[in-house]
Amino acid sequence: MTKLANPVNWVEHARTLSIQGQSFINGQYVHAASGQTFDCISPIDGRILTQVAACTQVDVDQAVVAARAAFNDGRWRGLPPAKRKAVLLRLAELIEQHGNELALLETLDMGKPIRDSLSIDIPATARCFRWYAEAVDKLYDEVAPTAQNILATITREPLGVCGVIVPWNFPLIMAAWKLAPALAVGNSIVLKPAEQSSLTAIRLAALAAEAGLPEGVLNVVTGFGVDAGQAIGLHEDIDGVFFTGSTAVGKYILQYSAQSNMKKVGLECGGKSGHIILADCGDLEAAAEAAAFGIFFNQGEMCSAGSRLILDAPIRDAVIEKVLQFAQQMQPGDPLDPTTRLGAMVDQTHTERVMDYIASGKQEAELLVGGKQVRIDTGGCYIEPTVFDQVSNQARIAQEEIFGPVLAVITVNGVEEAIRVANESIYGLAAGVWSDNVNTLYQAARALKAGVVYANCYDADDITTPFGGYKQSGIGRDKSLHAFDKYTELKTTWLKIR
Ligand code: NAP
Ligand code: MG
Repeated sequence: MTKLANPVNWVEHARTLSIQGQSFINGQYVHAASGQTFDCISPIDGRILTQVAACTQVDVDQAVVAARAAFNDGRWRGLPPAKRKAVLLRLAELIEQHGNELALLETLDMGKPIRDSLSIDIPATARCFRWYAEAVDKLYDEVAPTAQNILATITREPLGVCGVIVPWNFPLIMAAWKLAPALAVGNSIVLKPAEQSSLTAIRLAALAAEAGLPEGVLNVVTGFGVDAGQAIGLHEDIDGVFFTGSTAVGKYILQYSAQSNMKKVGLECGGKSGHIILADCGDLEAAAEAAAFGIFFNQGEMCSAGSRLILDAPIRDAVIEKVLQFAQQMQPGDPLDPTTRLGAMVDQTHTERVMDYIASGKQEAELLVGGKQVRIDTGGCYIEPTVFDQVSNQARIAQEEIFGPVLAVITVNGVEEAIRVANESIYGLAAGVWSDNVNTLYQAARALKAGVVYANCYDADDITTPFGGYKQSGIGRDKSLHAFDKYTELKTTWLKIR
């Protein structure tokens, strides 16, 4: 992992940081055509960081015109893969060189601890661009086994103009998972970051230009989902829309495609993952720690959060005791303090939504710890790590995605019930299972309906592995070589040999 130099005082650094809130279209910073902006508010203390361009359909149209022109004249797609690789490698370098600035922007904008932005978000983003850059000049196409007088080739071609719509929980990483493979194979992009976290996307586009990405290839259109997002979804000249966000909005994206040009759709949506600890787990300490981090990391704003802790009856008390100890140690703190493990929730609206779930949890289960908003005098948005016991899997807090530091503990008897409960969900993003019996682990992994299964660990991550969901957690996969499937069309060419 790349080492990033730590400035001594992040609060001081934040004071002198220059922040750009304009969109980036055709190689230029631009205001929204309407001139409208919205406040970019930091959930750390409620301060206004800057004004961000509130783009609408007119701006999306301009970005698509630029992206289409870049695609059609081949200024990027037409380069040999090794040349595209060089530009994306340079971008990865620039991301690292500007690591402190990007990490600080991310933390100020959406409230995650600076230690996480620095040690996870920035290195993972750089690594993602580097990995797809390295991959793209090693992809070979196919020749079909046809008759001798026929040459049938199966080639991958870039899709064209890709719309990319991302959420706010890992703003840079979520964007990079889509941009890196899509750009590597030659597409042009119109990216809409979440309204709560526009800043690093804008900065990334400028760094990409500095790295040598031709103008018009990567456009960032800031603004609200119902304006800029919907305009991307419904656009007649966008060839594919690749979305990460909630299941509810993912369904709109499918509808937009159907209502417009049947554009290709990739969806990475919500989750309500079951994290199972079985009675024969030999290391309850490690399992409890993973269970706690699996829900409290990133303030619980994790699509793959192990939000339902499914405990085998014989070990439940022991595990709960340890989880509560970890919860005590993860009290929310100032995200700019490098020792803080749990930062601010993304904004006031989301804080209220999580507090509403906590209120309904109090009606349907037993609150063991947490449940309160704290640090209110800072003007920021902070919620204590919260654990509910005696939760029925039918309860609202067991079925709906909370996207906050709220854990629901469900007790079961044995592996079969554990798997049944884990699978009783509209979601299927991730699942976890702990046991000292490898046969049990393997069979459980096969039986769990989830795109990712963690056995004797949780939240393991590497760009080499696919990520995405079964059921209403999505369609398609990010990461790994499989991601190229989303951003390419397969073409069969028949050549008759005379
Ligand atoms: P969200 O509300 O669904 O928003 C996601 C993005 O869609 C934002 O950019 C949003 O814009 C935009 N959007 C909203 N309404 C839209 C519409 N009608 N048309 C087009 N775009 C629209 O999700 P979020 O609250 O940002 O993020 C949390 C969700 O993301 C959770 O459900 C989480 O599980 C999911 N997530 C999934 C993964 C995964 O890999 N499966 C990873 C991370 C997060 P505005 O916010 O600006 O309005
Ligand atoms: Mg913000």
